[in-house]
Amino acid sequence: MTKILFTAFEAAPFVKTGGLGDVAGSLPAAVSSSVFDVRVVLPKLSAIPERYVKKMEFVTTFSVPLGWRNQYCGLFRLKHKGILYYFLDNEYYFKRDKVYGEFDDGERVAFFSKAVLEFILSAEEFIPDIIHCNDWHTALVPVLLREQYMKIPEFTRIKTVFTIHNLKFQGKFSKFVIGDICGLAKTPAAAQLLSDKHTANYLQGAVIYCDRITTVSPTYAEEIRMPYYGEGLDRLFNRRKDDLSGILNGIDYRVWNPAKDKKIPVNYDASTLAKKHENKLVLQKELGLEVKKEIPLFIIISRLTEQKGLDLVNYLLPKFQQRSMQLAVLGTGDKKYENTFLHYAGIDSKKFSATISFNNDLAHRMYAGADVLLMPSRFEPCGLTQMIAMRYGTLPLVRETGGLKDTVHVNNGFSFLTFNAQDMLYAVDCALDIWFNRKRRWRTMQKEAMAEDFSWKASAREYRKLYSELMT
Ligand code: ADP
Repeated sequence: MTKILFTAFEAAPFVKTGGLGDVAGSLPAAVSSSVFDVRVVLPKLSAIPERYVKKMEFVTTFSVPLGWRNQYCGLFRLKHKGILYYFLDNEYYFKRDKVYGEFDDGERVAFFSKAVLEFILSAEEFIPDIIHCNDWHTALVPVLLREQYMKIPEFTRIKTVFTIHNLKFQGKFSKFVIGDICGLAKTPAAAQLLSDKHTANYLQGAVIYCDRITTVSPTYAEEIRMPYYGEGLDRLFNRRKDDLSGILNGIDYRVWNPAKDKKIPVNYDASTLAKKHENKLVLQKELGLEVKKEIPLFIIISRLTEQKGLDLVNYLLPKFQQRSMQLAVLGTGDKKYENTFLHYAGIDSKKFSATISFNNDLAHRMYAGADVLLMPSRFEPCGLTQMIAMRYGTLPLVRETGGLKDTVHVNNGFSFLTFNAQDMLYAVDCALDIWFNRKRRWRTMQKEAMAEDFSWKASAREYRKLYSELMT
């Protein structure tokens, strides 16, 4: 049996701030089988709901050497939906208001990475064959493993996989963390972790030290080898191209299922698609839009940041206003986008609506009630939103980048290539043309979209293949 230790800083349902939490919450269970024993190790963050904390079982304590410090670590264990989760406890580092964005994140994640390795020594007779790390928060694990734990015989055969969920965030700190916190001064890693004279880059360390690198879509794995997408590390990715691959994320089919979703007014599936518009009428009313089945309803459900291509949307809002269409936005983020959407909702409330909040229930109703989801991202490592939309028969209109390129094609949605408002408008006009003039084609596209397999099963198969390759 191959033993996998999966580690991340967040995992649903315990803590989730974004896509990483979704993946870490779903993938271990999907991969786990009679051949793969997958266990998950997480920080015991104060954001974990009390109902889970209460069920945790205390295992032991051990100390974690961190530079010149020796820090306490408590170990807790919880079996949840068939998967064994370990929680590493240190209230100084993890009892905080925020999951990320604390003044000492460089130290907090270094502690966690080091504690993951000490945990293997301390506990449970679980020496993994593979440690699967995710994003910059656990990027130091492969570095510390190679530099500080290779004298321990059991550790020499451990392989590491590092998955990049979003390269924009790399964990950059003052170079002093390398010696003072990581205890890596005078090791080869000291130079490898430096991204310039003054800056340590944790993610860069993982990319150099791990055995295999994955990203969350095949196209993004190609793109990050180019300067435009590489966030300063494209040359490094090219050097490691033989160890770099992309595996598309899945979505949770139990959560996102229009046939059973309790959060939507009317359930439907591909054979009862005619009922979908009843959700639209309820949604239009709820959002204060003109209630009319014939008007196509476009939606955006997103963090409102530059990454998501909202400059194109903002530029096109006057054009949208001239067209027979509606646009409803749900999201929070940069004020400039929030304010523009609010402005248009204010001047033309029959056509535009802006809900500036994070609202999961409303998101479900919007996926069910909409006709088109806009996602013109500048870059998109994978993107879940377009896959969820398709599951609800809502056609995505995307820019051909990253995971959007891998999931959307002419038969299940609309796309454009160049990051250019005219090209996007052309795609919108194509969608409008099919909506108004080729209704049967629209229905066929909806069915095609709903028939796509974006379940975790497909991704899990790929990860198992990767793990097996590492073991040979
Ligand atoms: P990213 O991880 O870059 O933010 P993804 O498309 O991978 O984007 O995942 C976004 C997820 O967050 C989706 O499940 C989407 O439904 C959800 N989401 C984004 N913004 C909101 C919001 N304002 N309210 C509710 N859900 C949201």
